[in-house]
Amino acid sequence: MSAGSPIPDPRSPMRVRFAPSPTGQLHVGNARTALFNWLLARGSGGTFILRIEDTDVERSSREWERAIIEDLRWMGLDWHEGVEAGGARGPYRQSERLHLYRAHAVELLAHDRAYRCFCSADQLEADRRAALAEGRPPKYSGRCRGIPRDAARRRVEAGEPAVVRFRVPDRRDVVFDDVVRGEVRFSTDVIGDPVLVRSDGYPAYNFAVVVDDALMGITHVIRGEDHISNTPRQLLLYEAFGWTPPAFAHVSLVMGPDHSPLSKRHGATSVKEFRDRGCLPEALANYLALIGWSPGEGNELLPLDELAARFRLEDVGRSAGVFDVEKLAWVNRHYLKLADPMRLARLTVPHLQREAWLSEPTDADLNFLASVVPAAAASVDRLDQIPGRLRFLFDYSARRALDDPAVRAEAEGARSVIAALAEELTAAAPLLDREAFRAAVGRLRDRTGQKGRALLHPIRLVLTGGPEGVELDVAVPAVERGALLGRPKGRPLQTGDVGADLQVRPSGFRPIPSAADRAAAFHEALGGP
Ligand code: GLU
Repeated sequence: MSAGSPIPDPRSPMRVRFAPSPTGQLHVGNARTALFNWLLARGSGGTFILRIEDTDVERSSREWERAIIEDLRWMGLDWHEGVEAGGARGPYRQSERLHLYRAHAVELLAHDRAYRCFCSADQLEADRRAALAEGRPPKYSGRCRGIPRDAARRRVEAGEPAVVRFRVPDRRDVVFDDVVRGEVRFSTDVIGDPVLVRSDGYPAYNFAVVVDDALMGITHVIRGEDHISNTPRQLLLYEAFGWTPPAFAHVSLVMGPDHSPLSKRHGATSVKEFRDRGCLPEALANYLALIGWSPGEGNELLPLDELAARFRLEDVGRSAGVFDVEKLAWVNRHYLKLADPMRLARLTVPHLQREAWLSEPTDADLNFLASVVPAAAASVDRLDQIPGRLRFLFDYSARRALDDPAVRAEAEGARSVIAALAEELTAAAPLLDREAFRAAVGRLRDRTGQKGRALLHPIRLVLTGGPEGVELDVAVPAVERGALLGRPKGRPLQTGDVGADLQVRPSGFRPIPSAADRAAAFHEALGGP
């Protein structure tokens, strides 16, 4: 589903991009970077572009690309241009732009802003060790800088493997005004000549990103802080080509509670994991927007379009944002309470299937679920906790309930109530709504002389199989309605119905025993007089 309304046509010259490498699941930190780009474009009428940076052939795959795209769409982020959307500045997959990188490398070589380097991996490694041993920064030695262009060309033509390196100007300060971090300054003395094109003809990140951002007319580069040391190299390339660089905004990384970058050892890290656990897309998106940014006075819980209207890059904080699982749970609870019952029902299906309580749901099954899931969703952090709240429906066992010594002790003390309940329910019509349930409780009160907890708690044990959970006047009618699923209309469960040759309405649920059946089974399992 899409959390925002359809993406409007751009009305400002702002152009931003999200440029993931398809080498794994979308990390929530990267999802936040995508979101900040989207919010900025959406809020200011700019263009949002999705570019796939798949030049790491070994690690990139179309499967990961699809997974990332699916997660972005799931969060409600859509793009004007890019992979699957098309656009005038494509192609939008770097592996399809190799001709552009080649042409631009040739241009830099022709102007002596780049040169061919023939150093072997062994040679480079030996240089690196020597530099470290002498306490120097391990940057490229510059060994091939002085090879005359003609000589280099002849060696390449003779088949010698070579990379193309950028000639970084000596003793210069590269300074830029980062929108988030303020003035950032690097000396070129610590920057070795970076590889632009590898010997297999593939571009290095720093080169491809500049060619692409320039040719795609990107006006603002918003990305993770881990890229900040790449920016001076990229700025020098803009300068070498005579291009105007975009504005840069490096947002802090998303951290775990110990203030190290959020990683596996902190638990879930990918959008997919949060999605599978039953985080709603609007909740995850809203929460991610709140890491390092605030929509200002008042409510933080706002739909994406509202967040976009308030988003200003200048307001993004520079300090590290800690991923707060508790806060995400709070945001998710908020959206779970707002969610449409049928939507919740559909989203709950995989979680019930995981428990083997449900195969393929029918329409009647979904309607039934939609009538019970909101009550369960009101008290959980995530959808994957809903089976725990609905166990009373789909996994009832009187014997198992009585295996718990506390339940047995209480039941022993409430034998008269339990016997009366079993009798009362055999005679009564199914308690299909709150009123019918309350009327039955009233009759039992009269019969037994018990009231309040002494009456209701044994009823809970018997009919739900446990000491706590969803309110009884919601739970019991749910049991009764569930018991009618997959059975002839209007007729409650009878012994031998399951698998019997009856004209049953199909249901994907495991059979749900009725209240009467539960009471009889419990009474029997309790045994004794
Ligand atoms: N492909 C890079 C990444 O995923 C993109 C960095 C950038 O936005 O320039 O980290």
